[in-house]
Amino acid sequence: MLKIALTGGIGAGKSTAARMFAALGAELIDADVLSREVVAPGSDGLRAVTERFGSEVLDSEGALDRAALAQVVFRDGSARARLESIVHPRVRARSAEIIAALPQNAVVVEDIPLLTETGAAPNHHLALAVEAPLELRLERLTGRGMARDEAQRRIDNQASEKERRRACDVVLDNSGDERALELQVQRLWRERIEPFAANMMSARSAAESEKLRFIVHDEGWEQRFEHTAARLRRIMGSSAVRIDHVGSTAVPGLPATDVIDVQVTVVALSAVERMQSALERAGYFPIVDGRDVSQSGRIPDIADPESTGGQQFLYGSADPGNIVHIHFRAMDGIGRRLAVLFRDWLRQNESARVRYAAEKEEWAARVDSYQEYRAAKESWFRTVGCPEAQEWAHENGWSAPVC
Ligand code: ADP
Repeated sequence: MLKIALTGGIGAGKSTAARMFAALGAELIDADVLSREVVAPGSDGLRAVTERFGSEVLDSEGALDRAALAQVVFRDGSARARLESIVHPRVRARSAEIIAALPQNAVVVEDIPLLTETGAAPNHHLALAVEAPLELRLERLTGRGMARDEAQRRIDNQASEKERRRACDVVLDNSGDERALELQVQRLWRERIEPFAANMMSARSAAESEKLRFIVHDEGWEQRFEHTAARLRRIMGSSAVRIDHVGSTAVPGLPATDVIDVQVTVVALSAVERMQSALERAGYFPIVDGRDVSQSGRIPDIADPESTGGQQFLYGSADPGNIVHIHFRAMDGIGRRLAVLFRDWLRQNESARVRYAAEKEEWAARVDSYQEYRAAKESWFRTVGCPEAQEWAHENGWSAPVC
């Protein structure tokens, strides 16, 4: 099952985009609708609300008087937090219940207005934000009957566009007409969501493109790493001792293939075996093609230049829009230290960076498959990069961060 979160400020067009996803076959879960359901007359949610806020938030029929409650909570941050502590866990429980009843191949789109505020984005396979300029949102909201100052006040109470952008994987631009939004939704569905869901069903990570292609340093790489790390932290908790961005995408100024390398330090590799099914549910699968994978999924550590028998697990994400390689390495493994050392050496030495970039260009001109490229890179790493980086570490008293 693929779980997608859809968020956006009020009036940005979340509900509009959600309808478009539903038309493409997504199962829709609307947090606004559920937040009403969990405080419906007779519910234990409503009982909890009246215990906290008194019967003045009820109307004459005994149902929740939302306008009266809004008056209380929009002026008082701590009252709002108390209300949220009643409503949010119940909404989460109810949506989990609905999701549990859906078929395995479902694509679920959850409309969650406060996704950023509640820090829930990493609980989903993909988080989407719908954006529109402030003036347009105010116009659209007043167009559907909301007073302008009320609309402005609600907007001021929500996370900023920047915060939402940082938390989400994809931004849908709703500054145009509805057709323009629909084209983005359809394209995202076809190019990313459908293949993502298909990969999940086949229990495989997304394939790298066949053709070797380098791109200049991309500002989005760090964010893609952060999102992956946040998801892995949710799944692994304290079993992940550290999560580091390694490889060429972690070195500003270095061209790289569009693959984010993530290193997860574990106390022992057996932790990864224990977590395999949780990782797979979150969309992370062992990478097998073209690599020497033993039955347990362990491979010789590709950052172990001396081939001392070091091992690692290598996983990839099922998301074709964020190709990542996740290297699980043990705390005392040589590969763990070298991956971080290599990154820091390149980050801090311009001449090393320039030489490495030039080597990469050579290989790119000479070979055209990832496999050949990897072989050339590993050989250079063993004979040149690693000894030089080791010497630099020695001279500068560099040591690998532990936790
Ligand atoms: P949200 O769910 O984010 O609060 P809605 O999807 O309800 O926002 O959109 C707010 C209002 O703006 C609705 O009346 C909707 O029909 C309208 N709307 C949304 N997107 C567009 C668009 N691209 N062009 C014109 N009106 C739009």
